[in-house]
Amino acid sequence: MNIILLGPPGVGKGTQSELLHNELKLLHLSTGDILRDNVKRNTELGKKAKEYMDRGDLVPDELIIDLIRDRISKDDAKSGVMFDGFPRNINQAKALDNMLSDMNTKIDKVINIFADINTLIDRAVGRRLCRGCQKPYHIKNNPPKKENICDECGSELFHRDDDNEETVRNRIAVYTESTEPLVNFYKEQEKLVQIEAKGDVKTVFNNIKNSL
Ligand code: AMP
Repeated sequence: MNIILLGPPGVGKGTQSELLHNELKLLHLSTGDILRDNVKRNTELGKKAKEYMDRGDLVPDELIIDLIRDRISKDDAKSGVMFDGFPRNINQAKALDNMLSDMNTKIDKVINIFADINTLIDRAVGRRLCRGCQKPYHIKNNPPKKENICDECGSELFHRDDDNEETVRNRIAVYTESTEPLVNFYKEQEKLVQIEAKGDVKTVFNNIKNSL
């Protein structure tokens, strides 16, 4: 099974993909995580991507599509992938359909998670990530047991550079303009499931699970 998690910044895609990964054993492919890792290691891709990420703009399609093509051709992607943060526009979605069709596979379901703008800003600005395993936390809604330390692996938590309010607002605007049209794109393909990010993490997770 291949699924896409669609939704604006701060809606909880990272948290839900972690739970889904444990449940479904699909490869969790987050383009944001891969790009942040490249920025940290100062690779050629990281150097090219950083300025776009700092502004909250989309990294150019050709860089992202090459990265995805390379990643889904590896053995650990064969039994299914959960795409998180990709595709981000119609061009990427069409490229993905073509890549998967060349591999005799397809997207089975697209889960669109939505929430109002104040919730998104609050969640993104209060988010903290683990430096070691990338597990997401929230300073108020989902704090770690020990301040600033990951419950899972004991590494330090960090605040993403692009999780400040100004950049989050730009990321939401970019989402509305470039990514939201994918909702109709996948509705027309009859693959779309709509999930409201209301209630606690478990409730949203159960709603997603029931929809699959
Ligand atoms: P995310 O962790 O998904 O919020 O992504 C963080 C940043 O990485 C975004 O604001 C973009 O600058 C970049 N990015 C991640 N995925 C993509 C993508 N599929 N296409 C273009 N840029 C992306």
